[in-house]
Amino acid sequence: MELQFDVNLKPYNTLGLDVRANYFVDINNIEDLHLAREFCQHKQCPWLLIGGGSNLVLTQSFDGLVMFMAMDQVFWPAEQPVAQRPEQFIVSAQAGYEWDLLVEESIVRGASGLENLSLIPGQVGAAPIQNIGAYGVELKHCLDSVQVFDFDTGESFQLLLADCHLGYRDSVFKRHQSWIITQVKLLLSREHKPKISYGIIADRVTSLSGQPASSASAQQIRDAVIHIRRSKLPDPNKIPNVGSFFKNPIVNIEQMQKLVERWPGIVVYAVDENNHKLAAGWLIDQLGWKGFRQGDVGIHEHQALVLVCSGECTGKEVLDLAKRIKADVAVNFGVTLEVEPRLFDSRGEFYL
Ligand code: FAD
Ligand code: NAP
Repeated sequence: MELQFDVNLKPYNTLGLDVRANYFVDINNIEDLHLAREFCQHKQCPWLLIGGGSNLVLTQSFDGLVMFMAMDQVFWPAEQPVAQRPEQFIVSAQAGYEWDLLVEESIVRGASGLENLSLIPGQVGAAPIQNIGAYGVELKHCLDSVQVFDFDTGESFQLLLADCHLGYRDSVFKRHQSWIITQVKLLLSREHKPKISYGIIADRVTSLSGQPASSASAQQIRDAVIHIRRSKLPDPNKIPNVGSFFKNPIVNIEQMQKLVERWPGIVVYAVDENNHKLAAGWLIDQLGWKGFRQGDVGIHEHQALVLVCSGECTGKEVLDLAKRIKADVAVNFGVTLEVEPRLFDSRGEFYL
């Protein structure tokens, strides 16, 4: 383990926040995690694990050890000793492997299941944390199990899909912060069944490939998803952002009916017979925030759910804008927005 001191974290978070870490280390294997744990116990300092840094807001310099997940091996089926059913395709990747690279490579190798989750930034190990989701698919649809290292106890164990309690942008890992995911096993399929029910996907597949979406290959769906995302979402390498800043709020049927009466154009999707999901982006857009700019922060011009930065902004500016939007939505719609990215100050996580 190679310990570094007073490290700039700007390259490690996609908002480009210019904060520092007292101590910093790359995690290359489980042994490094044991050593890092001993270090934190000895120093009695807090710790924070960072992956791609695309879902966190570092509001202050970190007064402890920041660990960058650098375990990046991937184990494709031919290298696996376990017998698989012919239609199954099991791939295991260490936590530090780039998510979108795994998606791309799995399709090239003839496996389907991940194509709708194309171009999501970040690492494989972070995918279960908020059960990443897009275009009608969530990680829970293809997760088999994860390997965990408990930073409190130093023990490693496996969790099966059911133990991960994956929900909408949620998992058991948000309630067990000492659990570090070290490896993820995914159950994919060699028999491709296109998932095209999410509004715009079918149209885009057809317009790009000239074929009916119902017979689209996994690669054609990936191409369509990438095309849509590039047209709507800012590339974090050019415009610093962390994707959606708020979760879509879930309301009960009475609340939903009142809102529809008051705002007939409101975008609502049924979750189950009692609950409905509101498109948070629509709420924010209605209040005129899209394209808003103040100093070094603002709201993306094509997507009201994405808070953007100039590359020079501070965590305080980001939080102040988020608070203003949250308050505006609460006053006008009576709906409480929940922040999606994880917020950290000098000692650890906090909530808005
Ligand atoms: P980080 O930001 O590094 O970490 C996020 C949190 O997870 C932190 O609390 C961190 O401590 C913890 N963590 C990271 N790795 C581990 C690990 N191995 N073990 C335990 N804890 C860990 N999300 C979606 O769900 N769907 C989308 O479509 C989507 N699109 C996006 C588009 C853009 C342009 C951007 C910038 C973000 C988008 N996101 C989306 C959010 C983000 O990319 C995902 O949440 C992603 O999984 C975060 O990965 P990361 O490696 O960057 O995590
Ligand atoms: P969009 O297609 O404009 O849709 C707006 C919202 O409506 C989405 O948030 C989506 O909820 C919901 N929605 C749309 N069609 C739906 C359907 N058929 N069934 C159920 N819900 C539906 O959204 P977008 O902003 O361009 O994003 C496209 C997809 O990428 C979405 O799935 C979104 O979650 C994902 N994305 C996520 C992030 C992030 O950081 N979390 C960033 C960018 C994009 P869901 O969000 O529940 O799908």
